[in-house]
Amino acid sequence: MYLSQKIEKNLNDNRQKLSGYVSYRALSRRLNSIFKDTDQHLKFKCVKYEDLDVDQYMVGGLYDQSTNMKYILFNVSAYSDELLLEDWMWSDFVFNVSQTIQHETIHQDQFQHRPYIDDGLKLDFRILKGTIDEDREYLSDVDEIDAYAHDIAMEIKHFYPHMDPFHVLSTIAYKRKLGSYSYYKKTFKGCDWSRIKKRLLLKTYKWIANV
Ligand SMILES: [Zn+2]
Repeated sequence: MYLSQKIEKNLNDNRQKLSGYVSYRALSRRLNSIFKDTDQHLKFKCVKYEDLDVDQYMVGGLYDQSTNMKYILFNVSAYSDELLLEDWMWSDFVFNVSQTIQHETIHQDQFQHRPYIDDGLKLDFRILKGTIDEDREYLSDVDEIDAYAHDIAMEIKHFYPHMDPFHVLSTIAYKRKLGSYSYYKKTFKGCDWSRIKKRLLLKTYKWIANV
């Protein structure tokens, strides 16, 4: 999507403000202010979960077609009010935020020219959250396949920076660091998902040149 560089620069320029102990409120407020000039359709929020440990976080998102807003959700522990972002966590933080913004931007593009149908908001947890049937339905959606293909293309370049990305793609069955592909593999284990896989890998192939 050509957005990585811009997003990463924005975060790196503001690293000081986001490092160390930052309260959940300050984290979303600061991220909102950092991105307010570059994307007016982007909002950050922290959402507390009891099953997350203190200092653990996961980045999820959602796109609200009715307001044309993308939400980047920091799923954080209900047992704390602040997050500790240490130096060694920074590059993962930047990658996760950048990947989620782009995933939601793809949904925004998909819905931009479609009539609005109120079918509720769909959360992107990007981790196993629902029942296996819910996860299978979620990952079979063509919009999700396209957005996850972008996630996988980003992961190929991020986790295998010194390898030819097309070679990584052709040997994807043996690659262990690609979380989004593993999510698909795990979710569809034991059933025939060849049509979904074909579309997913074809779309990933197309995205590789553009991430
Ligand atoms: Zn999605």
